[in-house]
Amino acid sequence: MADETVSTMIDADRIAVRVRELGAQISRDYEGKRLVLVCVLKGSFVFTADLARAISVHHRVEFLGVRSYGDGTQSSGVVQITQDLMQPIQGEDVLIVEDIVDTGLTIAHLLDLFHTRNPASVKVCALLHKPARTRKVVPIDYLGFTIEDKFVVGYGLDWAERFRNLPFIGLVHQGGGEAT
Ligand code: 5GP
Repeated sequence: MADETVSTMIDADRIAVRVRELGAQISRDYEGKRLVLVCVLKGSFVFTADLARAISVHHRVEFLGVRSYGDGTQSSGVVQITQDLMQPIQGEDVLIVEDIVDTGLTIAHLLDLFHTRNPASVKVCALLHKPARTRKVVPIDYLGFTIEDKFVVGYGLDWAERFRNLPFIGLVHQGGGEAT
């Protein structure tokens, strides 16, 4: 536990600028619609909080608990819903807010799940995308940043529940190396 350090990949100012841009774009696209932001827990809670405040059109926020990783850094490929939405989404315009699209398996599963609930539309907003690890190609309608194949933490993203509180996106270094 002792000697990990975190280096900055995307600093807080760059994130803030990009989140404001995404919020403005979403506000234009959803003018007059019944927007529901679905925050995918836990990793998206910081991004959703900032994005919601950058969106000027009326919307409500829902939370969905999903587990796709254990305490390691490799995808299990198994997506488990740990907490469902509190309200139906029938007839509403759903925007899934994800921290990161890695293999694409989580988003693919959520798109299938939500389509069974008859929303007016379902789109995806992801802060980060790692195209190198794609196993399922999914549409990302609003994207913050494309990154290389590195395990990142901060701005809501964890490593064994640590580092979610960092205001930037960073890389963990253990005893001189990176987490893999
Ligand atoms: P996917 O199903 O696309 O492989 O994985 C999506 C989920 O895996 C993300 O919501 C996130 O929880 C986790 N994940 C994928 N890559 C990373 C990463 O680099 N860092 C962290 N902390 N979580 C990741």
